[in-house]
Amino acid sequence: MASEFILETRGLTKEFKGFAAVQDVNLKIRRGTIHALIGPNGAGKTTVFNLLTKFLQPTRGEIVYDGVDITREEPAQIARRGVIRSFQISATFGHMTALENVRVGLQRRLGTSFHFWRSESTLRQLDAEAMALLEEVDLASYARTLAVEMPYGRKRALEIATTLALDPKLMLLDEPTQGMGHEDVDRVAELIKRVAAKRTVAMVEHNLSVVEKLCDRITVLQRGQILAEGPYSEVSKDPRVLEAYVGVEA
Ligand code: ADP
Ligand code: MG
Repeated sequence: MASEFILETRGLTKEFKGFAAVQDVNLKIRRGTIHALIGPNGAGKTTVFNLLTKFLQPTRGEIVYDGVDITREEPAQIARRGVIRSFQISATFGHMTALENVRVGLQRRLGTSFHFWRSESTLRQLDAEAMALLEEVDLASYARTLAVEMPYGRKRALEIATTLALDPKLMLLDEPTQGMGHEDVDRVAELIKRVAAKRTVAMVEHNLSVVEKLCDRITVLQRGQILAEGPYSEVSKDPRVLEAYVGVEA
């Protein structure tokens, strides 16, 4: 039977020259939920994501995904298991169209060789799949637009589509609404909710109204350690969280 938690860390620690950016973190992410990681700047949120995808090697601790200890696996193995992190928009190829960007993701997933994917029929099949993914994120009308020419909010949606192309089981989103205006925030939040129906999502998010609306559970990090964990209704009332996160006296 599949465990209740798709991901668990035990004593996860990352030190940079003796400075503990992440310290003894026991994170538990329930399967099928949207889990938020919040906390002040420098709390260690991005470092946790980098550890989960093995972009960084943990100094200590374990990472268990789907009941398997993946602590010593390579980033490519972890991606193949379906733990996929979205990158900031710089990772989309500006001088490729939206459709081509998603197709690159599909090609990466298939791992098809250069010669194979160059064949006409394979390309056409990938285009159809890429188009379906663009439709899923409401970007069908941008299919032939160069990424560099897309508005910021739409580019972030494209980034989510390229992540979806890798068929994530656990999707890690680092500040998906960062730098967006109201309208784009709502649109991307709606999009995350939609894609989360079929997978687990963990997200770093500063916009607390997005967290409240979207996320089932919240982990609050402060100075590399877990300060609180629970549903928004509880965590948002925790005096320690208010003090650490909003900077107000309890
Ligand atoms: P957050 O995403 O919560 O803002 P980060 O995970 O980016 O925080 O950073 C946590 C702490 O670790 C910060 O103090 C940051 O300066 C430090 N840090 C992050 N990456 C490195 C690195 N590669 N080398 C040294 N220090 C780092
Ligand atoms: Mg960060």
